[in-house]
Amino acid sequence: MKRKLRMGMVGGGNDAFIGAVHRIAAFMDGKIELVCGAFSIDPQISKQSGEDLFVAPERVYLNYEEMIEKESLLPEGERMDFVTIVTPNFLHFAPAKLALEKGFDVVVEKPMTVSVEEAKELQETVERTGRTLCLTHTYSGYPMVKQAKAMVKEGHFGKIRKIVVEYPQGWLSRLTEREGNAGAAWRADPKRSGKSLVMGDIGTHAAHLAEYVSGLKIQELCADLTTFVEGRLLDDDGSVLLRFENGAKGVLMASQISAGEENAVRIRIYGEKGGLEWANEDPNNLIIKMLDQPRQLYRTGNAYAAPYTLSSFATHNTRVPAGHPEGLLESFANIYRNFAATVTAKREGQIPTAEQQDFPTVYDGVRGMAFIDTVVKNNEGTEKWTKFVL
Ligand code: NAD
Repeated sequence: MKRKLRMGMVGGGNDAFIGAVHRIAAFMDGKIELVCGAFSIDPQISKQSGEDLFVAPERVYLNYEEMIEKESLLPEGERMDFVTIVTPNFLHFAPAKLALEKGFDVVVEKPMTVSVEEAKELQETVERTGRTLCLTHTYSGYPMVKQAKAMVKEGHFGKIRKIVVEYPQGWLSRLTEREGNAGAAWRADPKRSGKSLVMGDIGTHAAHLAEYVSGLKIQELCADLTTFVEGRLLDDDGSVLLRFENGAKGVLMASQISAGEENAVRIRIYGEKGGLEWANEDPNNLIIKMLDQPRQLYRTGNAYAAPYTLSSFATHNTRVPAGHPEGLLESFANIYRNFAATVTAKREGQIPTAEQQDFPTVYDGVRGMAFIDTVVKNNEGTEKWTKFVL
């Protein structure tokens, strides 16, 4: 395929937050172009957004149903190749399902759906149609996160014993949803957000990061959810004890009332021989702590000599020479670049490389929904540990 992949968007209009980040990420490597959209719940805003983005007026649609239907009737040489879905949580499933059924690939925001049942239905649809679904767990796109994963996998730290993952934010420390903040309003509304505010919004990122870097699956958990802000309809803070499949133990903290915090995602993993630490607010550094050795600092973009050579997964996802900061936008772009390479390879009848296939998929989406369900079930029930059931 000697052309760019053609992208359509559901959501992401001038009234949205993350849609613009998706466009920056999608366009960064010159492999993707925007051709159509149903950009907003408000047709006027959708129209204006399309104009601002130089999308042909006849391809700015009133709603996602019209977009997917009309695009599917266009000639192969014109129609969109995939849909990016960046709507509130309750509006991920229906457009994703329809797009897959009509032959389009999908990029969808997390949490993938608002229930395990919907998530499993999307999994079945992906498997039946053979299409590709990419879930944007942003933090898994960083080169030093990939380096951490590679070092755990090659046994650098020995058997993993302890995983500590945190995602504190402070922006919901007040009743922000009643202060005219549309993003906070739908997030705090159980009908549009799902069963848990804090776990749906940021806890799934933390759970995914823990499983991604450690390569281990959560098996059971014990959770404590709290609504600190009076008048709020959903939880805004959570602490979860985790048990992983190899006997490793974990602690997950996700909180939106950690006053003063920004997006302080951090993960620490400890094995028999040593551990690692990575933080979103300092993403080009990976700290390695080995027993009886001075600390080491791995940095993005270096051509270290053996045995310190950076993994092919880290270098594949690095764009600029060492010392030039790469951040969230590049991490997001890595997810898009790998997704686009995989879609293109599949369409050409080729098998994508392991590096190209390294992005979150429908299976991560199902685990994310099962994580939310298990946390809520355990928090509401009386049993100490609840099995993570898929
Ligand atoms: P937002 O409220 O800022 O924007 C939502 C957009 O969806 C708006 O443009 C709105 O008009 C549009 N919309 C709503 N209903 C629609 C419909 N029926 N058809 C078309 N458009 C419709 O929300 P946001 O903060 O951009 O979040 C969107 C999604 O992205 C959420 O699922 C959220 O969890 C996720 N998100 C992920 C990250 C990340 O780090 N990966 C960060 C922020 C948000």
